[in-house]
Amino acid sequence: MRTCYLLGHPVAHSMSAVMQNAAFHALGLDAEYRLLDVEMENLAATVDQLRNPDTLGSNVTIPHKVAVAYLVDRLDQSAGAVGAVNTIVNEGGTLVGYNTDGSAAVRALREVYGPLGGARVVLLGAGGAARSVGYALAREGAGLAILNRDEVKARRLAEVIGAESGGLGELGSRLRKADVLVNATPVGMAPNAGASPVEASMLHRGIIVFDLVYNPPKTRLLSDAEAAEARTLGGIRMLVYQGGEAFRLWTWREAPVELMEAAVLDALGGACP
Ligand code: NAP
Repeated sequence: MRTCYLLGHPVAHSMSAVMQNAAFHALGLDAEYRLLDVEMENLAATVDQLRNPDTLGSNVTIPHKVAVAYLVDRLDQSAGAVGAVNTIVNEGGTLVGYNTDGSAAVRALREVYGPLGGARVVLLGAGGAARSVGYALAREGAGLAILNRDEVKARRLAEVIGAESGGLGELGSRLRKADVLVNATPVGMAPNAGASPVEASMLHRGIIVFDLVYNPPKTRLLSDAEAAEARTLGGIRMLVYQGGEAFRLWTWREAPVELMEAAVLDALGGACP
C-alpha cells in the first residue's frame, strides 16, 4: 500500500481525501490518501518523512504552502515563480515541489471563456490563491487588475506579475470594463455563506464570474451573478483539476476527474454551477 498525505493546519474540512481516494479506488490502485494536521514546528520533520519509499507524495495547504518551498529538494517551474508548493512528489527519495493551482484555474476558466489572451480580468484578493492564479492568468496573456482590502499587498503582487492594482473602492468601475471577475478571497465560504465580496448591483451580463470558493458549491456571489445574467464558474472544477494534476504526478495515470468531481459534490451535498 502506497500513501499520499495532505499537510495542513487545519485539514479536517478538506475535500482532498474524498476525491483522491475515490480516484485510487476507481483505478484499482493500492494506495490511500490521508489528512495530516501538522503544526509549523513539526513541518520540516514531517516533510522529511515523505522520502519513505511507501510514500507517493503529498498535497500542501494553508498555512504551509510557502514554507514547504524551502524544505523540498527541487522546485518544478510551476512552483518556482510563485514561491509556493501545493504538491510534493517523492521521486525515489528526492522531494520535488509543484504548484497545480494556477494551471487548474486556467483550465477551468478556459472551458467557460475560451483562450484567455487579452481577457480583462479583475482578480479580487492578494493571498496565496490569488498569487497562483494571477501568475497563471498573466502567463496566458490576460490583462489583470488585482484589487485587495490591503492595497499594499495588491501592489506588491501586481508589480511582480506585471498587473494593475488597487483597493476595493475601485471594484465598481473596474468591473464595468471587465470580461472576468475572479474571487480569490474566502468571503462567502461556509459558515459565512450569506456574504459576498461584491455588491450585486456591480455584476452584469457581460462578465464571467469565477468564485474560487467551493463550499458551498453555489455561493452568494454566484447566485447574484446568475440573477444578473452573468456566466458563472464555481471553485469545484479548479479543486478537482488541481487534485487531478497531483494524482497524475504521483501515479503517472490520468485522473478520473468526472468521478472525482462527483465525489466532492456528493460530500458537499450540492449542485455545481
Ligand atoms: P489567503 O492566503 O488567506 O488570502 C485571503 C485573501 O482574501 C487576502 O487577500 C485577504 O485580504 C482577502 N480577504 C480575506 N477576508 C476578506 C474580507 N472579509 N473582505 C475582503 N477581502 C478579504 O487565502 P487563500 O489561500 O488565497 O484562499 C482564498 C480562497 O480561495 C479560500 O476560500 C480558499 O478556499 C479558496 N481556494 C480555492 C481553491 C480551489 O481549488 N477552488 C484553491 C485555493 C484556494 P487582505 O490581504 O487584505 O487580508
